[in-house]
Amino acid sequence: MDDCIFCKIVKGDILSYKIYEDDKVIAFLDINPLSKGHTLVLPKQHYVNILDLPEELYLHMSKIVKKISQHLNDKYKPEGILINQNNGKRAGQEILHAHIHIKPIYSDTQILSEIDLRKSFSKEEMDKFVKELSLS
Ligand code: 5GP
Ligand code: ZN
Repeated sequence: MDDCIFCKIVKGDILSYKIYEDDKVIAFLDINPLSKGHTLVLPKQHYVNILDLPEELYLHMSKIVKKISQHLNDKYKPEGILINQNNGKRAGQEILHAHIHIKPIYSDTQILSEIDLRKSFSKEEMDKFVKELSLS
């Protein structure tokens, strides 16, 4: 995609701090990181998000996320590692080229928790959701 920043990074037209690359996937440091080692893992080919990513590619990305997380943990010894992927603008996706965030969390890392904003549903509603969502 011509006007996609991440496609430009993949092509080498924009500088990135690359830490991993294979034929399908690239990983580089986030330009505006939450913490030291905040990494983005993305497919070299342009896909928007989880909904149009081929399953095999998503599985491969997950393997690389695991590998990099292990490496970050060994090197920097964070207190935790937050992994997230935003899908759609309303879910916080700013760059519309699919990517997974790996965010090491240290003692001084500020993270906003969604936990206080969570809802609770009645048993009837939960049963209804299960009926609607059960996959065979
Ligand atoms: P999103 O909100 O789409 O899930 O996350 C996009 C991420 O891409 C943000 O964390 C932002 O800091 C990062 N980002 C935006 N532009 C660039 C760039 O040109 N280079 C790098 N390395 N990261 C970028
Ligand atoms: Zn792209």
